[in-house]
Amino acid sequence: MSRIDRREILSVIGTAAATLAPSLATGQTPPPGPSSLPRGMSRARFSTALSELRTIVGEQWVFADEASVTPYRKSLVPDPGARHVPCGAVAPASVEEVQRILQVANRHRLPLWPVSTGKNMGYGSTTPATPGQMVLDLKRMNRIISVDPELCTALVEPGVTYQQLANYIAEHKLPLWIDVPTVGPIVGPVGNTLDRGVGYTPYGEHFMVQCGMEVVLADGQILKTGMGSTRNPSAWQSFKWGYGPYLDGIFTQSNFGVVTKMGLWLMPAPPVYKPFVVRHGKMADVSRIVDAMRPMRIANIIPNVVLMMSAAYQLAMFNRHDDIWDKPGVIPEEVIAEAAKKAGLGMWNTYFALYGATEVSIADSEKIVRQAFEAIGGEVLTAAEMGDNPYFHHHATLMRGGLSLEEVGIARWRGAGGGLAWFAPVAPAKGDESVGQVALAKQILGRHGFDYTSAFAIGSRELHHIIALLYDRSDVDEHARAEACYRELVVGFGDKGWASYRTGVQAMDLVAQQYGAANRSVNARLKRALDPNGIIAPGKSGIA
Ligand SMILES: Cc1cc2nc3c(=O)[nH]c(=O)nc-3n(C[C@H](O)[C@H](O)[C@H](O)COP(=O)(O)OP(=O)(O)OC[C@H]3O[C@@H](n4cnc5c(N)ncnc54)[C@H](O)[C@@H]3O)c2cc1C
Repeated sequence: MSRIDRREILSVIGTAAATLAPSLATGQTPPPGPSSLPRGMSRARFSTALSELRTIVGEQWVFADEASVTPYRKSLVPDPGARHVPCGAVAPASVEEVQRILQVANRHRLPLWPVSTGKNMGYGSTTPATPGQMVLDLKRMNRIISVDPELCTALVEPGVTYQQLANYIAEHKLPLWIDVPTVGPIVGPVGNTLDRGVGYTPYGEHFMVQCGMEVVLADGQILKTGMGSTRNPSAWQSFKWGYGPYLDGIFTQSNFGVVTKMGLWLMPAPPVYKPFVVRHGKMADVSRIVDAMRPMRIANIIPNVVLMMSAAYQLAMFNRHDDIWDKPGVIPEEVIAEAAKKAGLGMWNTYFALYGATEVSIADSEKIVRQAFEAIGGEVLTAAEMGDNPYFHHHATLMRGGLSLEEVGIARWRGAGGGLAWFAPVAPAKGDESVGQVALAKQILGRHGFDYTSAFAIGSRELHHIIALLYDRSDVDEHARAEACYRELVVGFGDKGWASYRTGVQAMDLVAQQYGAANRSVNARLKRALDPNGIIAPGKSGIA
């Protein structure tokens, strides 16, 4: 097994890793070529806007020369036509600077693409939905404003990473857990939650455990949602709803404002934690696993966001396609099955955990869970039985909110280039729906020569089918095929009513079309009301 090292991981990620360092460029830096200028903006006007931005944040925090913009252009998603190229980046250090940047953007009609930690890998990283936007990089705003150990809440700025939050909790010896997506160390709660991302403890549905936001609107006004604007905002991080229409949702997966603070709930560290994997031997078992899992998730007998990992996805974490199969194209199922067996994996590997106040309290749940899975031919295994199996170790880490970067290895499954686009259709948590989805995904991916490397995340009543379209971005033909394949997946699944819960910059409009005309019209009207000049992230979620 070829586990990859940290340096290789960082080269695979290839995002704006250097953006905390000031640019070496000064005011003399040449503006980028016309192809990446904001639409309809002259080079002279762009230069004026850059000068004004430099007076706000300092010269070293405006990135507009080729070298310093390059990290912001890196992406894993298919973009053979280079349509998702930013024109530069600006990195403010405070809310006041964000407000002043928005004034400049309004004056010059300069579109801004806000990112928090900017690692939206497989969805576009820091690249914008339309060409010529300036990345509004909020990494420098990275203060943990407060952590309340009694209420188990935190208030953070956009640049705060999960690693930073974990370090804070460890330093202050707080009995609290965080919940992380699979790439926790380098990403953060604000960006992840705003894109409605997930993790794998009982607090895995991140928007559900978000509480209170501070948002800078396009006209510079500051909005505090929930209890944040009351005379005594001490309940800002403890009561989500405030009064009147609930607004937080409209600032997620949207372009209606720039979020500059966000509250979140933290999980009290449970005294007892017991992770499990259930192995099943056949791809066709998918339906039975989903049907067995559903009632236990709904009744909260299994309290965490469950991952059902296909063998091919798991193998891709620590291997390359060519390690498993020495021919190009789709690896046959029996070859995957053999490699999986050698790695101690089933064809489906369902990871869940029990959390409790005492051993006794989780022992009762364990009995129910074992019975349910053994009745459908599953092997229910614990840490003691899985020993040092690296796949089990990885998931056991995630399900207690631990930090790991190992899964990034999937992006180099094929060839030398690193390529990954997440396709994430949603379905109700019903076995027959999962079977239909697996068959359709294999058919479309197979037609384009790509492996079915996927997982299902079972939140509660729904399935997020998380399909990693893995391809070699350095191969021109494969890059183009990946783009075509992704579009075919969106359309093919959409025709069956399986629309995506989230998508990359390369398909935002396509997915938006599947949510109907009324939905699009309401979003467009909100956009015109809140951002009449269209300066915040045009094209995000298909909203112009
Ligand atoms: C191997 C691998 C595994 C992954 N596993 C997971 C996983 O388990 N769960 C998961 O959810 N994701 C996963 N991802 C996808 C992604 O890397 C994470 O979701 C990551 O948290 C997003 O990046 P970020 O936190 O840096 O957010 P950012 O890139 O900063 O933000 C994401 C988007 O939110 C919007 N946004 C961000 N900040 C603001 C703001 N302040 N105001 C307004 N809009 C804003 C922008 O549109 C931005 O593009 C995975 C990726 C890889 C490569």
